[in-house]
Amino acid sequence: MSFPDEGRQVAVIAGAGPAGLTAALELLRRSNIMPLVLESDAQVGGISKTVKYRGNRMDLGGHRFFSKSDWVMRWWQDILPVAAQDRAAPGGLRISYQNQSRDFTPMDRGAVDADAVMLVRERLSRIFYRRRFFDYPLKLNTATLRNMGLLETLRIGLSYSQARINHRSPEASLEDFFINRFGERLYRTFFKDYTEKVWGVPCEEISAEWGAQRIKGLSVRKALAHALASPFRSPHDTAQQHTETSLIERFLYPKFGPGQMWEEVAKRVRQGGGEVHLGHRVVALERQGLTVTAVQVRDEGSGVLRRIACDWFISTLPVSDLTAMLQPDDGEVARIAALLPYRDFMTAGLLVRRMTAGGRRAGPAAASAAAPVPDGMPPDNWVYIQEPDVKIGRLQIFNNWSPALVADPATIWLGLEYFCGEGDGLWSMSDAGFVDFAILELAKIGMIDRRDVLDGTVVRVPKAYPAYFGEYGRFDRVRRFLDRFTNLYPIGRNGMHRYNNQDHSMLAAQGAVGAILAGGHGKTELWNINADDGYHEEKTGEVA
Ligand SMILES: Cc1cc2nc3c(=O)[nH]c(=O)nc-3n(C[C@H](O)[C@H](O)[C@H](O)COP(=O)(O)OP(=O)(O)OC[C@H]3O[C@@H](n4cnc5c(N)ncnc54)[C@H](O)[C@@H]3O)c2cc1C
Repeated sequence: MSFPDEGRQVAVIAGAGPAGLTAALELLRRSNIMPLVLESDAQVGGISKTVKYRGNRMDLGGHRFFSKSDWVMRWWQDILPVAAQDRAAPGGLRISYQNQSRDFTPMDRGAVDADAVMLVRERLSRIFYRRRFFDYPLKLNTATLRNMGLLETLRIGLSYSQARINHRSPEASLEDFFINRFGERLYRTFFKDYTEKVWGVPCEEISAEWGAQRIKGLSVRKALAHALASPFRSPHDTAQQHTETSLIERFLYPKFGPGQMWEEVAKRVRQGGGEVHLGHRVVALERQGLTVTAVQVRDEGSGVLRRIACDWFISTLPVSDLTAMLQPDDGEVARIAALLPYRDFMTAGLLVRRMTAGGRRAGPAAASAAAPVPDGMPPDNWVYIQEPDVKIGRLQIFNNWSPALVADPATIWLGLEYFCGEGDGLWSMSDAGFVDFAILELAKIGMIDRRDVLDGTVVRVPKAYPAYFGEYGRFDRVRRFLDRFTNLYPIGRNGMHRYNNQDHSMLAAQGAVGAILAGGHGKTELWNINADDGYHEEKTGEVA
C-alpha cells in the first residue's frame, strides 16, 4: 500500500462494488483527490461480481444492465462498448428492465476487442409450477388453462369473484393486498410461497404498503379484458403487433458476466493512479467530533492491521456496520442500525450434461443461440420455481445469459438460488452437503436426472437484500446521525440500505463525488436517488 504525495487529499472508499469503483473512477476523472479503495473480498464487483469456477462463470442473481439514466448508459459503454454485431439494429434498440423500457442507440466505438464488450440479450423467464412451465407474467391463454386444468381455473375465477365482493378492509398486510387484487386461490398458487421464500417472513407480517409501492399495475381485471378481447383482434392489427414486439425484453450484458464491467473499471482506477486493495477489510473508524479522520484496515491474509488517514470517507459498508464503527452516543441510533433487517442468498452452481424438463420451445433466447443446444435445456435466462415442496427459489441458466459464461457449450451451467438468513439451516450446511441438497431438489421437481450432474459449487452472499421491514421503519434517525458527519458519504445498496440496482449505486457515487467537489453541497440530496421510483422491482413482486 503506497501513500499519496504530500498535500494530495485522500478519499478512502470502503468496498469495490459498483458504487465504490464508480466513485473512485469519477474522483480520478474530475479531481486531484486520490481514491484508495479497500475491499474485504478477494475480487471486485460486490454483489455484481462474476464468480469463476473451473472455467465456468456464475452471475449471482443474474444482472441485467439497464438504466433510465443516459449518464449511466454512456458510462457503461465507455468501459465496455456494445458488441458490433448487436449494434446494428435499424432505428436503434429498445431495452427493458422490470417494467421500464427505453430507446437506446449504442455508441459507435469503431473496432473494439471482441471480448471486451456488452451483448444485447433477450429475456425469457417463466414460472415452474406443478412440474410445468407457465408464462411470466402470467397470461390468461390456452397454455395456462391447459396447465391449470379447467376445474382449477374455475376455482380461481370463483375465488377472485369472492374477493371482489368481500373486500378485506382495512387492507393491513401484504396478504390482504394480494387477496383483494387476485383472490385467495391465485394468491396461494402464485404469490404466497415465492414472496415468503424471498423474504423469509409470512405475507401477513409484511405491510400492505410494501405491495402498493412495488406491485403496481398488475390486475386480474386487465388480464381478463385482454384475454376476452383477443379473439376479436385482427391478426393485421398493427398496434397489437407493435405491442407484441415491444414486449420482447432486451437488456445489455457484459460478455463474461457483470463482474467483467467492474474488473475493467478497477483496472482503469489503477491505471489512473488510484489504488484498489483486495482482501482488506475495514474494521474500525477514528473520528474527531463529526469528522472521520482515519480508517483501520485488516489484511485478511496476514491479519496485519493498518491505519490510513483520510480526508474523505466514502462508505459502501452495510449501514449497520458503518454506524457501529462510528460509535454513536445516541443508544437508539446504535440499536436501530444493529437491528436493520437483511435477507441473504446462496447459489449452487451445477454443471449438468442434460436436463429433463426443458420443454424446449422457440423462445427469444433459443432463437439467438448460435451453438447447438444441450439436451433439454430450457430457453429461459431464469425460471421462477413456485413448487411448494422445494426450497429453491430461482434457477439461472447461465448458457442463456451469455454463452461465454460456459466453458463447454455441450454442458448446461446452472445457478440454483436460495433465499435464506445468515446462520440459518441452509446457510450453515457444509458446501458438499448443500450441493447434494440442491441436486436432490432439482431432481425431485423433474428438471434433471442426478446421474447427469458433472460438478457443483456454492457461493454465499451475505446481506444480498436490505429489507424494508422491522427497524427499517425508524431508519430516518440513523440517516440523520450519518448526515451530520462532514466528510462521510454513505452510498450504494447496503451503504444506504436501499433496494438499489447497479445504476442507482453508481448515481449515488456520482452524486457523492459532485458533493465532495462542491464542498459538501448536495450531500443530503443523495438520499433521494431511488427513493420513490418503483422501477427497481417488478409488477409481480419479483426481486432483483
Ligand atoms: C439476486 C440479485 C439480483 C440482482 N439483479 C440486478 C440486475 O439485474 N441489475 C442490476 O443493475 N442490479 C441487480 N442487483 C443489484 C446489484 O447487485 C447491486 O445494486 C450492486 O451490486 C450494488 O453495488 P454496491 O457497490 O452498492 O454494493 P455491493 O455490490 O454490495 O458492494 C459492496 C462491497 O463492499 C464490500 N465490503 C463490505 N464490508 C466491507 C468491509 N468491512 N471492508 C471492506 N469492504 C467491505 C463488499 O465485499 C462488497 O464488495 C441484483 C442484486 C441481487 C442480490
